[in-house]
Order: sequence, then structure tokens, then C-alpha cells
Amino acid sequence: MAVTIDLSGKRALVTGGNRGIGRTIAERLAEAGADVAVFARNEQSVAEAAAALSGRGVRGLALVGDVGSDADVERAWDTLMKEFGQLDILVNNAGITRDGLLLRMKPEDWHAVLDVNLTGAFRWCRLAAKQMLRQKSGTIINISSIVGVIGNPGQTNYAASKAGLIGFSKSLAVEVAARGITVNVIAPGFIETEMTHALGEHAQAEFVSRIPLGKLGTTGDVADLAVFLASPMSDYITGQVICVDGGLTR
Ligand code: NDP
Repeated sequence: MAVTIDLSGKRALVTGGNRGIGRTIAERLAEAGADVAVFARNEQSVAEAAAALSGRGVRGLALVGDVGSDADVERAWDTLMKEFGQLDILVNNAGITRDGLLLRMKPEDWHAVLDVNLTGAFRWCRLAAKQMLRQKSGTIINISSIVGVIGNPGQTNYAASKAGLIGFSKSLAVEVAARGITVNVIAPGFIETEMTHALGEHAQAEFVSRIPLGKLGTTGDVADLAVFLASPMSDYITGQVICVDGGLTR
């Protein structure tokens, strides 16, 4: 029996949905029938991503802004509610790195990573949870990293933001569970995107040698799990961290 996931009638928002992992998540949610809003800073690629979603026969909505700005998130939220009227699926995917060993880490690099990766998700979740509690339904998917589970030298700021996102999500999951809202975390390993290309070939080869399945993951590997977590098939799963990492974390 073929299993199909039907998200038609659902309204989703993906932060950082204009490229990389977020873009593939937005596309796969749209393929499953959901209307999808994309929120990120680069106006041109946000518009292009939203237009591509609309080309799939669902509604794509471009929302330009910085997850590090309360005002940008609030403005985007108002537009989202005006255009979509509800939010069923929130994917907090926007993220940055500012790597460096702790002793050399500039305070601004610490604060920037925490503000985008962790506080950015807080900004969106606070607004979304209020709406979902009113709707008595909804699902939140936060994109962390295996680095938030196992740590990584040179990434104390990134690891702290991603570990923080896990604690945040587990706590929120319990706060909203009584209204049927689920909150889960995806922790990707090494996925082929601009973020990992920036590591260079040598570092990439070294990482691959440590992955039991022997290859980098694709954005589709992460997006397939996001679609499952956004669907009624995962209604009884909440407060979980699921690693998509080729067996690296176990
Ligand atoms: P990319 O660097 O390819 O994309 C990052 C996305 O986040 C872009 O869409 C970018 O859009 C958006 N973004 C960054 N800063 C902001 C901001 N301040 N406000 C709004 N949007 C922002 O990253 P990936 O696709 O590789 O990663 C996506 C997520 O997955 C991140 O959270 C990352 O930490 C996580 N992850 C990635 C892994 C990997 O191997 N690639 C492994 C583990 C986790 P714009 O620049 O236009 O704002």
C-alpha cells in the first residue's frame, strides 16, 4: 500500500526557506499540498522561492526579515495572519555559524549566533504558539544540530544555541501538549549545503570518514522527516530530538 502524506489546507511557515535545508523543506511541504510562507533576509531569493512554491499549485508567500529582529518577526507575523489567517506548521530553520575556539571568540560572534539560532526560534514560537493554542492544533519543528547533542570544538556558540533549542523545545512541548500541539526537534548531521561547502574539501572528507553510512546527507533527507513530523502520521510524537546523521550519533 502506498503511503501518501496530504497536507492540503494546512498553512506552513519556514524560516530560512529560501535556500539550503529550509528551501527543500518548503518545497516538500508544498508538494504535500500545504501553502507555505518563506521568511529570510535576502529579498530576491525569498521572492524567488515563494514564486517557485506558487508554481506548484499551492500558495507561496514571501516574507522578508531578520529572525534577530523583534520588529521584523512581528511585522512578518501580521502579514502572515492577514494572508493565511492561521498557522498549522512552523519550521524554525534559519541558522548561522561564527566558528572559533572559545579563547579567540569575539563576544559579538557569541551573541549573533545565540540571537539568530535560539532567540530567533523563541520569537517565532511565542507568536505561533499563541495562535496554535487558539486553534487547538499545530506543530512546531525546530532545526537543531547533532552539534547541540555531542558538541564540536570551535563551535561553543553554535553548540550552545542548538543545545538551547533542544531544551527550549522539550519545555514548550509540555506547555502546549494539552491542546494537541506537538513540538519536535530535528538534529541534522553533515548535510550538503552552502554551510558545509564552506568547510572545504579536506574537512568534509574527514567528516565523511566518521559517518557509518559513509556519505553526507542531503537536504531531502532532512525535509522528508520534517514532512512526516508535520503530518498526522506523527500526531503522538512530541518533545523528541531525531538525528538525521547517517548513524554518527548513537
Ligand atoms: P544555509 O547557510 O544554507 O542557509 C541558512 C538559511 O538561514 C538561509 O535561508 C538564510 O537566509 C537563513 N538565515 C540566516 N540568518 C538569518 C536571519 N538572521 N534571519 C532570517 N533568516 C536567516 O544553511 P543550511 O541550510 O545548511 O542550514 C539550515 C539549518 O540547519 C540551520 O539552522 C543549521 O544550523 C542547521 N543545520 C545544518 C547542517 C548542515 O550540515 N548543513 C547540520 C546541522 C544543522 P538569508 O541569508 O537570506 O537570511
